[in-house]
Amino acid sequence: MLLVKDEYEQIHTFIMVDAHTHIKVEGLKGLLPSEFVSRYHHTIREIVKEMNEKKDIFRYSFPWKLKKHVPDFYEFCQRDLYTLVHSEDIAKNISRYLGFDFFITFPSDIPDPLPRDYRRVNESVRQLLTEKSPKRKPHNNLRFFGFGRVDPNHSDALDTVDSGAQMGMKGFKMHPKSESFKINSKNVRNVLKRLAEHDIPAIFHTQEEMGEKLHKAVVKTIEELIKEDKLDLIPRLKVIIGHAPWNGADNPKLFKALSHPNIFGELSTLKPESYETFFTNAREIDYGEMFEAPGLESLSRKEVEEMYFLSFGYSRHNYWSSKIAFGTDNPYPPAYGMRPLLRYLLSWDFPGNCSDLANIFGITALKLMPHGAFSGKDIGGKVSGAVEFHEIGMEEIEERSTRILGIDLIIESFPVARLNGIVITYLVNGRKESVFVNSLFDKSAPKNLIRGNLFDFSRSKLYPNGEGVFEEIEKNIS
Ligand SMILES: [Zn+2]
Repeated sequence: MLLVKDEYEQIHTFIMVDAHTHIKVEGLKGLLPSEFVSRYHHTIREIVKEMNEKKDIFRYSFPWKLKKHVPDFYEFCQRDLYTLVHSEDIAKNISRYLGFDFFITFPSDIPDPLPRDYRRVNESVRQLLTEKSPKRKPHNNLRFFGFGRVDPNHSDALDTVDSGAQMGMKGFKMHPKSESFKINSKNVRNVLKRLAEHDIPAIFHTQEEMGEKLHKAVVKTIEELIKEDKLDLIPRLKVIIGHAPWNGADNPKLFKALSHPNIFGELSTLKPESYETFFTNAREIDYGEMFEAPGLESLSRKEVEEMYFLSFGYSRHNYWSSKIAFGTDNPYPPAYGMRPLLRYLLSWDFPGNCSDLANIFGITALKLMPHGAFSGKDIGGKVSGAVEFHEIGMEEIEERSTRILGIDLIIESFPVARLNGIVITYLVNGRKESVFVNSLFDKSAPKNLIRGNLFDFSRSKLYPNGEGVFEEIEKNIS
């Protein structure tokens, strides 16, 4: 989390997410979870120091005193999560929370011959992301979004997706270069559809013109979904162009791809000499382009808007930045770009407002994460203005539960992009329970909720009984 003040003394809480990292499993290159937490804490500490030393460069300032305290790994990963919804209250303890809040992480390539079976490696990722509490209870590490790997050309690719999703993986990474598969191929499209069924995103390694090919694959996938009468999967299809800038900071086809409502880009490999070009082009991504996506262009604006709003909460005011996510490729060499990029984004040179910054730093990536909250009527609410209250609450949950399963983030896009609340789901004697945590600062009903759990989709008041918009789409394409 990065807490800053702007030039009007307004405090901003930026939830920080790295959308591209590699975890160390089975001897593959990567970092251990605790290494991520401490490394990123130190990077943010350095940036904060620079912000105080070079006040004329930075738009934002950090007027709080930093103590020596370095986050304790277990505390940070579990108990301290409540602080995500307590921006102002935590200023006095900020040393403890400074750093990156979440990491999207996946294994590196396995050296096996093609096609590759990643199932064993994926399972190792899940194991590594299970933490033992001081009382030796296993809990899912809530700071990490573990992604699996899948080679779409493997005959068990769909099983790899299914078993990974069942284990709680939050997405899948595909690497067209090292697994030498064609991006716009039947195999890839089948994997994309399966991922959409699980409501989880795909991230692709891309370089040169691969982003353009991925755009074509997404368009074709949507056309197929329409033909197959699986229209409900369209807003669950979430595709991230990894290393987006490697496709060319001045490549109009990259920005065309990013304007598609199902496509996002991640910033690793962006070089300082291209910052201005990249963000000038990115700012041109227009909300209106959403309505031109193939298969959907014949629908009314309202219908398209509502369909995508349910899963992505798009707002016309910051559509461009809600397509871009911060990423580093740690611990691979593009990660050297991390500090200069953070510095640039916080400087006067960055051509966006605080919502754009919040999107790029974390909100864009968080919106893509699947939700796992138990959606029964038993979601209990806890609202408080005090961090301590929720820390005690977290202890109670740990005490009561056999396992903490996951976290769902409630995100608001308008008027500002920010985290509005969290839902923690845990297991009590084999029964799932979820607790909704909101801060006193947002005690009015949160507006523009992202409903991540699309199982509620058919029952939403916008589409009673799942009817309405999809019939419209069918009518228009037949
Ligand atoms: Zn990578």
